[in-house]
Amino acid sequence: MQCPCNPNKKYSDCCQKAHKNILSINTAEELMRSRYSAFVLADINYLQQSHHSSTRPSNKEKKEILKWTKSVQWIKLEILNSTTNTVEFKAYFMESGIVDIIHENSLFNKENNHWVYLKAY
Ligand SMILES: [Zn+2]
Repeated sequence: MQCPCNPNKKYSDCCQKAHKNILSINTAEELMRSRYSAFVLADINYLQQSHHSSTRPSNKEKKEILKWTKSVQWIKLEILNSTTNTVEFKAYFMESGIVDIIHENSLFNKENNHWVYLKAY
């Protein structure tokens, strides 16, 4: 299976490693890619694990996120820019037959010795 974050890579050589062990991630960009793939695969527990505890969605929000990500068709991820602790990306998806894009500058941080998503900035 292709990796959702990059069609040129196998899932087993890319984000699956992160999904099995978040400590295997070395950079903010890898963490961001693994979160995109987790949205595609509706891996809500990984989405929670890779979120900073101070900004992590509540259990109610978690259910809504899961419902939403299962309801859309993810198309692709584009990384526009990345630094040590930031990533600018575009995530393309189709919702109700219409293509939509999430364009975000994300901030990442380390918590419990691994990278986590902090917030958009
Ligand atoms: Zn990947």
